[in-house]
Amino acid sequence: MYSSSFLRVIRNELPIHFVLKQLNEMAPFSKFIEGFLRFQCPLCNQFRATINPKNNLAHCFCCQKNINNIDLMIELGYDFKNAVRILENLLHLYKK
Ligand SMILES: [Zn+2]
Repeated sequence: MYSSSFLRVIRNELPIHFVLKQLNEMAPFSKFIEGFLRFQCPLCNQFRATINPKNNLAHCFCCQKNINNIDLMIELGYDFKNAVRILENLLHLYKK
């Protein structure tokens, strides 16, 4: 089992843009626009999800949902356990 403090770390301290980059072709289409990384929202498929670097959350300006790293992985088709396991590996890679 993962502790809630560990889950907080992978939500907050692992930048979503790093996750998107590492997911490579698995990741939704993304592009920097006016200094913010925008990507195709996995919930509504509109190109309106924008990452707020201050809280490391993506907000979709179409469906109005907030998306964190774990939400993103689950929307991409991973179950919770695999989502966390992959994010844990990415966190190690990021901290290197
Ligand atoms: Zn959306």
